[in-house]
Formats: sequence, C-alpha cells, structure tokens
Amino acid sequence: MSEPPRDLREVALAINERLTEHYGPPEVRRVQDPLDELIQTVLSQNTADVNSDRAFAQLMAQFGGDWERVRTAPVGAVADAIRIGGLADVKAPRIQSILGEIKERVGELDLTFLRELPLDQGRAFLRSLGGVGPKTAACVLLFACGKPALPVDTHVHRVSQRLGLVPQTATAEQAHALLENLVPSDMVYSFHMNLIRHGRQICKALRPRCPECPLFDLCTFASKTLPASPRES
Ligand code: SF4
Repeated sequence: MSEPPRDLREVALAINERLTEHYGPPEVRRVQDPLDELIQTVLSQNTADVNSDRAFAQLMAQFGGDWERVRTAPVGAVADAIRIGGLADVKAPRIQSILGEIKERVGELDLTFLRELPLDQGRAFLRSLGGVGPKTAACVLLFACGKPALPVDTHVHRVSQRLGLVPQTATAEQAHALLENLVPSDMVYSFHMNLIRHGRQICKALRPRCPECPLFDLCTFASKTLPASPRES
C-alpha cells in the first residue's frame, strides 16, 4: 500500500523543532538599517560571508557610512573599497545603480519605509531594483524589517529539496514562495537559520552526513546514506 501524502506544514514544523533541539536556539542577528542590509547582501552575492563582511566594513570606513558619497563617487573608488570581497568591478556599478534608483524613486537614500509596508509591496519594490533578486530582497525584509520573508540561499535550497519540502525541480526562486507557504510567520527566521546551519554542518552538498542526521526519518532524499549496519557475528 502506498504511503499517505505528508502534510508538509507539519513536516516543516517538526524539522524546525528538531534542528533547534540539535543545534540550540539560532543566533539572533543585530537588526541593521534596511539600506545597509541591502548593500551588504549585494556584496555577499557569490562571495563567502567572511570576505563580503570585510568588503562592507571597508566600504563603510572609506565613505564614512554615507551612501550619497558612495553613489556619486567615481566607480573605481567604490570598486577599490570592496575589492577584498571579489567581483568588485561588477558589484561597484551595481551598488551605484541601486543607490541611484532609490534616490530617484524615493527622493532620499533611506529604505526604512519598507518596515511599514505590507510584505508583498516591500518585496515588489526591492525586486524592481536592478540586481536585486528574491534572496537579496528577502534578506532585507527579514533581517532589517522584521517581515516573514524567507531567503533561500544554496543551503536552504539544497536541504529543503532533499527533505522533500520542495520538489527536486524547484528553482531557488520558486522555493521562496513554496517555503513561505509552508512555514508560519513566527518561525521563518529560525527555520532559515536552522536550514543554513544544517546545510553547513551535516547536510553538506557533496557528502551529507546522513547517519548522524537528526532528520533522517523525515528525509525523502533518494540517495541518503544509511547508517552502517552492525557486523554480523
Ligand atoms: S538524511 Fe541526509 S540528505 Fe536527508 S537531511 Fe539528513 S543529511 Fe540531508
């Protein structure tokens, strides 16, 4: 007899509970200004966190945290300030273009109004800026605006596919809407943080450590590795 369909909302709840038990409560991130968060997230695109954090710190130091100065500086000066983060010659014009669009449409370099907007409107505004994809928009909305937007990075995407929360064929972009539909608003932050921790520590891209995984019985990944069977005596 075939298995009854799983209630994915229940499964998502169980996964989050188990991961919180396994790793402890997720670290609480300092809430920063939405525009700072946006630029920091753009710097983190395709870059290791440690390097993008350094690039952001150098950009802030170089321009005194003044986004108007960053917007109007020669693009080479912005690129030099963020060089340590990689892809500087792509990201510097992208950052200046984003700042220019915000200035033109909002009238000032300030995104705190996003905190007062409904989630969908805030997301639509951010996504309409060139170079801002679904993950970047969700990071700004979740971390700087307290909205239940769920950023799907490479870990969240891979782990949620393996667990069967989203189809194997779902793109990261599609997974944003699918996961937000499964996870209650007050659980979005911990769910996001937990899946990242799990993806980094156990459900690794190349060699998932399935035998020690606290989600083993909940996971539908066809290639999950079984615990070693005890030797027969
Ligand atoms: S059982 Fe393996 S594939 Fe499934 S979530 Fe755990 S580590 Fe990942």
